[in-house]
Amino acid sequence: MPANASPPPDAVILSAALTGSWPTKEQNPALPITEAEIADSAIECRAAGAAIVHIHVRDASGKVTCDPARYDRVRSLIRGRGCDVVINMSTGGGAGQTSDEERMAPVALFPEIASFDCGSVNFGDRVFVNSPRFLAELAKRMTSDQVLPEIECFEVGHVQNALRLIDEGALSPPFWFQFVLGLRGGAPASVKQLTHFVDMLPAGAKWSVCAIGRAQLPLGVAAMAMGGHARTGLEDNLYYRKGELATSNAQLVARLARIATELNRPLATPEQARQMLGLPALTLSPPLGQLSTVSR
Ligand code: ZN
Repeated sequence: MPANASPPPDAVILSAALTGSWPTKEQNPALPITEAEIADSAIECRAAGAAIVHIHVRDASGKVTCDPARYDRVRSLIRGRGCDVVINMSTGGGAGQTSDEERMAPVALFPEIASFDCGSVNFGDRVFVNSPRFLAELAKRMTSDQVLPEIECFEVGHVQNALRLIDEGALSPPFWFQFVLGLRGGAPASVKQLTHFVDMLPAGAKWSVCAIGRAQLPLGVAAMAMGGHARTGLEDNLYYRKGELATSNAQLVARLARIATELNRPLATPEQARQMLGLPALTLSPPLGQLSTVSR
């Protein structure tokens, strides 16, 4: 089947969250930190079945940064090797480690998707502030730059915030939600919580689940069984199983891909994911061997 064939109705979009803001190589040496490592990991995850990679970048000391030049380098490294994976850049900025303006900087790079953290929440020992003013400005910039918001909801009040923004016309379809479950400070990672989130969504919205730590696998499987989509990766969980560190992001993706196949959920290719999410197709520009989006 060609990679750009129409997606089957039951196709599942697997996302890989490669790095995150907080994990360290001391916790798991397989965590990609440099731009080259992040690009390598993205390409491996694509080969293992991921349609989307969710990216954070780090500075030379390994600390989270929103530096657009680093984001741009990661994207160039991925595309330069002919990899078509959908790229989702974080605007999270490490939950309180960066200013609102710094967090919005990656949007100006016109990523295909950027995260949109749809409300404030306690985040471990910190508070992750996403004020109404910040969300209104971020929605405005993402709309004008044609960046698809990945509406991240850490508790159901965040879905309510999204519904309000939709009502006000600040967010418009298609809608792509990511439910983050099991964060210390957010909604517990349970199927009961998940069904509550899903029940609140507007018609036609697509949704995915990422759950933290040991909840990552069971909630991902539950999401796929319910007809949703799933995210895995070292940002959310450093272990393959209890007491055993994951050896790579791709190892986690490959497990979810195997389970999806057993559940009769065909894996969406990146191009199929673009169709499902209303994103422009990606085309190869022959002279440079570079990939670029059609409409930008
Ligand atoms: Zn993230």
